[in-house]
Amino acid sequence: MIRINEHYLKLKASYLFADIARRVAAYQSANPDRKIIRLGIGDVTEPLPESVIAAFHAGVDEMAVAGTFRGYGPEQGYDFLRELIAREDFQSRGADISADEVFISDGAKCDTGNIQELFAGDIRIAVPDPVYPVYVDTNVMAGRTGQNVGGRYEGLVYLEGTKANGFIPALPTESVDLIYLCYPNNPTGATITRDQLKTWVDFARANKALILFDAAYEAFIRDPQLPRSIYEIEGAREVAIEFRSLSKTAGFTGTRLAFTVVPKDCMAFDAHGNPHSLHAMWNRRHTTKFNGVCYPVQKAAAAVYTPAGKIQSKALVDHYLANAAIIRAEMTALGFDCVGGENSPYVWIDGKMGSWEFFDMLLNKAAVVCTPGAGFGACGEGFIRISAFNSSANVQEAMDRLRSVLK
Ligand SMILES: *Cc1c(COP(=O)(O)O)cnc(C)c1O
Repeated sequence: MIRINEHYLKLKASYLFADIARRVAAYQSANPDRKIIRLGIGDVTEPLPESVIAAFHAGVDEMAVAGTFRGYGPEQGYDFLRELIAREDFQSRGADISADEVFISDGAKCDTGNIQELFAGDIRIAVPDPVYPVYVDTNVMAGRTGQNVGGRYEGLVYLEGTKANGFIPALPTESVDLIYLCYPNNPTGATITRDQLKTWVDFARANKALILFDAAYEAFIRDPQLPRSIYEIEGAREVAIEFRSLSKTAGFTGTRLAFTVVPKDCMAFDAHGNPHSLHAMWNRRHTTKFNGVCYPVQKAAAAVYTPAGKIQSKALVDHYLANAAIIRAEMTALGFDCVGGENSPYVWIDGKMGSWEFFDMLLNKAAVVCTPGAGFGACGEGFIRISAFNSSANVQEAMDRLRSVLK
């Protein structure tokens, strides 16, 4: 008899986006002529930069000719891309990362979900609340939690993000082995300072713990005081793995290219306390279970690091940041407390009522779709997330509608 991994039965069905879709569809069928503006999505809307498209085309053309055709490439990614990333994203900021510590992949979702395979089944895990659900669900699937009781999994340590702490959780008071952090944060848009991040690195070093640092939104950081990589913090090479993605940085959500940085100094321990290289383990995992990103996509990704590509991808991010600034300014003027939207595409708003209540009001009165914060964890109740991923015209129109409904 073929049996299932029963840990899957513990997963709470993800009602969030299905629920949103159902309510939006119901509204649209009752109001067929009303134009709905969607500010709920975490997906980019603008096309790929010109130089990326040119390199993508050139890569495809190379595949059409015997002399330049390529079959399987290195699983970890082509050197031309790994070297560019190490130099441009890390060394240029004083972060000591070498090309062979960069693993190219087809997504930060996959990598943040797969990395847990390297760790023991009985480690103690700290996850933020509110949270990007991938970190939690992949550990549930792997059997590292108990049941979901009242919206929280037994056995996990929840790091509470609240208005009082500015959605930068306090250090855990109990000892933990694995810590998930994401800054700039999805869903709250909160950013972490160098000093705050250093307290986490110091905590990890003192506790022989490991930080999984999701920096998918680093390109949205404009404040030069904020760290763009955890490796800007002294000592992080020993205790942190960083996840990056071109998805939000350069419009690659449908094209797929991300990378994970595993420094060679990063160690984890066996039952006898002997250290083992996580770089070697991730390399083993990656080469066994992954066969590399499509060559034209890697060529397209390399174009992001050319002078023209940098200007064009920055313009893309600037477009979304301008939207975020409008959303934040409007909501603040309407009397709502906001986090994010300054170095992040997300504005996290205290709705002063239930998350779903606020969602329904915006949908029914303004035909604007947001994301209810409660969908990201218990601490998200009472908040909504408005995303800047849309055209300027749509964002402006959405804000005009909100103003007439909320003032
Ligand atoms: C969008 C996003 C990613 C990127 O995922 P990809 O699989 O690279 O598209 C990673 N982490 C967070 C928190 C995100 O919101």
